[in-house]
Amino acid sequence: MQIGAKKAVTIHYTLKDDKGEELDSSDGGDPLVYLHGEGNIVPGLEKALEGKQPGDEVTAAVTPAEGYGERDEKNFRNLPIRKMQGKVQAGMQVRLQTDQGPIAALVTAVNGDYATVDLNHPLAGMTLHFTVKVVEVRDATAEELEHGHVHGGGGHHHH
Ligand SMILES: [Zn+2]
Repeated sequence: MQIGAKKAVTIHYTLKDDKGEELDSSDGGDPLVYLHGEGNIVPGLEKALEGKQPGDEVTAAVTPAEGYGERDEKNFRNLPIRKMQGKVQAGMQVRLQTDQGPIAALVTAVNGDYATVDLNHPLAGMTLHFTVKVVEVRDATAEELEHGHVHGGGGHHHH
């Protein structure tokens, strides 16, 4: 079965940056299961996997425009430290509550009672070098299509 819209796809992947440094990998762990065509993975990788089949190996260089976007200087904020947990220092990750739920942000500087945090996605502005092995392709269930993600086997478990 080929990868396309409404397919539940199981892959093993390794992600490296421009210098060849490994950023993320499913090797040695559970494979990633995602619903194709629903934005579960970055657009550039979805494009590269379109039409592929189990056993295929795919390499793709995904630009920021088709990955996690460009870094945006407007995504730096000065926030009061008292609203953060623990001892806040430059270089540490903090969890912030937003209208869209909790997000991780990097503290770039601390000035008195305020900390400067970078709200850009950690992979924003980077070209992403993926090596992917397609493990399994199946039809998504009606419930998965309704939810826009895969259930079980590495998918979401929120029911
Ligand atoms: Zn669901």
